[in-house]
Amino acid sequence: MKRSVRAVYPGSFDPITNGHIYIAERAAAIFDDMRVSILVNPNKTYTFSVEARHAMASEALSHLSNVMVDHFTGLLVDYMRQQEAQVIIRGLRAMSDFEYEFQMALMNRRLAPEIETFFIITDANYSYLSSSAIRDIFQFGGSVKDVVPHCVFRCLRERFPAHPPGGKPHE
Ligand code: ADP
Repeated sequence: MKRSVRAVYPGSFDPITNGHIYIAERAAAIFDDMRVSILVNPNKTYTFSVEARHAMASEALSHLSNVMVDHFTGLLVDYMRQQEAQVIIRGLRAMSDFEYEFQMALMNRRLAPEIETFFIITDANYSYLSSSAIRDIFQFGGSVKDVVPHCVFRCLRERFPAHPPGGKPHE
């Protein structure tokens, strides 16, 4: 009998970008059941509230029927066990991601040897894309329309209504 595999794609998603969506789509094509799980770290400040990050991710991923958006706080491996999930999904952009991701994967394996970390390489078009770059570019008046879903663009406009300072408003 085939065992169904549940995967979790954790991250801040502050906000979700087309790079994240690309990884979620590729993972959803492999795993039966997936959670895109938004991390709430009380020691970190975020640009968007967990509710806003959740709403943007849910809308952006609504075309994937086996993907559910969730959020969690605390250790990822504890959440994984609670969700009965076996696989952690992470995206890799460049070598610069690798060192951090490698360390995290080994640490998680030490904490929970039964859980596997699965890496998916980004699309070349998204290799430079990060949530922090989106926030910065938007605030300085640059165009982000083609690298974030429409719901994120809308939320960025609401979150930063006065940007760019003194410049023309985003269309
Ligand atoms: P974190 O705070 O954990 O870095 P992020 O939401 O920024 O959370 O990223 C979550 C995951 O998505 C990470 O594995 C990250 O490498 C990956 N990721 C972020 N941006 C991209 C992108 N443009 N292409 C592919 N993967 C990405």
